[in-house]
Parts: sequence; structure tokens; C-alpha cells
Amino acid sequence: MPSTPSPERPLSVETVVVSAGRPPVLPGQPLNAPIVPSSAFHAGGDVEYAREQAPTTSALEAAIGALEHGTAVAFSSGMAAANAAMDLVPMGAVVVAPSAAYTGVAVRLRELAAIGRIELRIIEADDTAAIAAACTGAHLLWLESPTNPMLQVADLPACIAAAHAAGAQVLVDNTFATPILQTPLDLGADIVMHSVTKALGGHSDLLMGALVARDADLAEELRIRRVLLGAAPGAFDCYLALRGIRTLALRVERAQSNASAIAARLAEHPAVSRVRYPGFGTMAAIELVGGIAAADTLCGSVQVWTYATSLGGVESLLERRRRWPLESATVPESLVRLSFGIEGLEDLWADLDQALRTTT
Ligand SMILES: *Cc1c(COP(=O)(O)O)cnc(C)c1O
Repeated sequence: MPSTPSPERPLSVETVVVSAGRPPVLPGQPLNAPIVPSSAFHAGGDVEYAREQAPTTSALEAAIGALEHGTAVAFSSGMAAANAAMDLVPMGAVVVAPSAAYTGVAVRLRELAAIGRIELRIIEADDTAAIAAACTGAHLLWLESPTNPMLQVADLPACIAAAHAAGAQVLVDNTFATPILQTPLDLGADIVMHSVTKALGGHSDLLMGALVARDADLAEELRIRRVLLGAAPGAFDCYLALRGIRTLALRVERAQSNASAIAARLAEHPAVSRVRYPGFGTMAAIELVGGIAAADTLCGSVQVWTYATSLGGVESLLERRRRWPLESATVPESLVRLSFGIEGLEDLWADLDQALRTTT
């Protein structure tokens, strides 16, 4: 089983998802990383206490690190990972972030600004000039691309270069694109964040997050945040996430082909006033001719699709984002976010079409 890419011909991502994070290739070793449910380990070895490090967590981290081309640290949720990254920002330092970043992240950054912990500068993720200007004197540029749920795409190389020129670090939340479609560390980012809950886990059966740093010392600082904030994932969830990653490339490929085909059809649908689809990826958002009431009717009328929050699973999900009171006011009230799963294209389309027809 190949596990180390050679510089001459690095392994393709389709191979890395299958091969990374496996036990050593030795007679009698299992093919899969064992689930090791132990909080403590006999003293004197490399592993002592599971909040610091644990074998199943390490296997998952090896896989996520191999995919994002850095050193990964796993957390108990995406928000735990986000808070660990925010915790590294010095007192009073400037953070630049998108107006409609992931709700939890946006709310948390606003809370930290309100108590004077950070100074927050809000930008639009697709406004490179404004981002470059806002980075002057900043400590951290927090980006998401594409953004949740507005599907704005940032010019990552240009934004990262501008932030670095201004002396700011760059974190990219790569939850939407996944490492199958985009590896921000290769574009110069310092930290990549994931809600592993979403596409990496892929089956809507766990909560987990990860931070990945190109610099091993920075990764160690982030791991110490996990230790001190107490945001360690459990062994069973690490196993599930690693199992999910094995099919990540296949799932993203299939979900993306569903998304691009249906986004094109939605653009022609008489009940739909606007489609946001960046041309790649497994997520889209629509607005309806009939507004909020139509959006709620749509969510209540689907049968193959599931009306639920979250994204990145094998099953197609949709929801009206502004039903969440904390969602950014820049998100249109009637916007329905679509997370494409891996079901049959025509089943997904027929269901969406019949549900859309009930809204007019
Ligand atoms: C869901 C999500 C998060 C938060 O992750 P949790 O695992 O729910 O804590 C952060 N960023 C993005 C883009 C997300 O979609």
C-alpha cells in the first residue's frame, strides 16, 4: 500500500484519501487504525493522556495533514477548532473577516470584538482590494472560500499575498471546497480550518474539526490550544471520520456533478429568481420568486431531499438559512442553501422540481 508520495510523482489525492493514516505495513498489523478508547496510557511512552494525543486521533491527523499538505490537529468540532485559532490572536490585535463567514465564526468574532479582545474589520470575501486595504496593521486574515452560505469566492493567492505583505497571518476555512478541490496551504495560507463534521466525515454522524498548519511549530501551538481548551475529539469519532475520508474523493466528485447539473437547471426554473453556484463544489444557494414563504414551502415539500441544517453528507440537504436568528443579516431572507449528496441526479432533480412547483 503506497503511503509516501515521491517528489517526482506525488500521489494523487484519490490515492491519498485511501492510503493516508494507515498503520505501518508490517506482517500482522491491521489495515485500519485501531479504535483506542483510553484516556490515559502507561507512563514513559510517546502517548500519555488523550487530551494531548491519542492513537486514533493521530491516525486521523496524519490523513488530514496528508490531504492539506501540512500538520493537522483534530478538535471536538469545527467551532472548537475555530476558537483555538482565535485564541492565538494577541490581545487587541486586528482580525479581518468576511461579513457572512460561517455563522458561529462570525458571531464569535463579533463577541470577541465587543469585549475588546480583538479589533474586527469586516470585508466581503470576493472584494480583494478591500481585503488588501483592511490587512494594514492586521494580525490575522480569516477567510472562507467559497463562503457559507453566500458562495462568494475569494481570490486566495492575491488575498494571501496582500495579507503577508502587511505582516498578517492567513487562516482559510476550507470546509466547502475540501482538499479535493483546493489546498490553501499550497497557495500560501498559514492555517487551514475544517469542520470535519461536514464533507470529511461525510455521513452526518459526528461532530469534529481540524486545523492544519504548514509550519510544524505553529501546529504545535494549535495542539497546545486543544490541550488547554479541552477540545479533544473521541476515539470512536476519529475512527468514523477517518473511515469517511476514504471515500471523500468519490463523494465530492459525485456530489459536484449533481450540483453543477442541477445548478444549471435551476437557473432556468420559473420559481427560482437567483442561483449561486461558483462553478465548482458541492454547495449552492437559491432565492425564490415567491420569497420567504416560498422558501419555507420548498423546505416542507421535498421528499428525496432532506430539510435539515448541515452539509457535506452523502444525503442532499436544504434549509432556509435565515431561520437561524444569528445568521448574518447580509444573507437574503429567502436564501435556501443546498448541500448536494451522492443520490441519483434525476431523483434529486425531480424532487426539487416538484417541490419548487408547490411554491408558485
Ligand atoms: C459547520 C461549519 C463550521 C462549524 O463547524 P462545527 O463542526 O459545526 O462546529 C465552520 N465553518 C464552516 C464553513 C462550516 O460549514
